[in-house]
Amino acid sequence: MLWLTVSLFILQPIFIGFIAQRKKHRIGAVWFVVAFAVNIAFALFMDSAQRSRPDFHTPEYQALHAKPAYEIAFALSIFIPSTIALLIAIFTLPKRRVEGNSDDQPVTAGALKVCPDCAEQVKLEARKCRFCGHPFNDARLSDPAPL
Ligand SMILES: [Zn+2]
Repeated sequence: MLWLTVSLFILQPIFIGFIAQRKKHRIGAVWFVVAFAVNIAFALFMDSAQRSRPDFHTPEYQALHAKPAYEIAFALSIFIPSTIALLIAIFTLPKRRVEGNSDDQPVTAGALKVCPDCAEQVKLEARKCRFCGHPFNDARLSDPAPL
């Protein structure tokens, strides 16, 4: 077996799983398996494309096939298109909603008020906006006025 192809078969799905988890909150292990399957499909396709060449069984082609540069070219012909296809698939996916802390969702514990400067929601008890630094000196916002 070809060492470069074998190591890319492991490393590329790890990378894909990592990207899917970090960028879209997807399950990395699932995308590892998906990437692995896509690579197998690309490898089988490339292999059958080679075997169907009319000059496949000639000694010249077999000698070329045995060269290390050929292995690199073969590995790249599998992993460049499969990586591009997988990244396009990941980036067109909608972002998965997650419970708890997230970069783009405000913390929902306790009551909230809307910052007059940036219109983001911040905790009612906050004295300073966590998004823009707007100071909340206004007592009305934190303490309901007595009737
Ligand atoms: Zn603000």
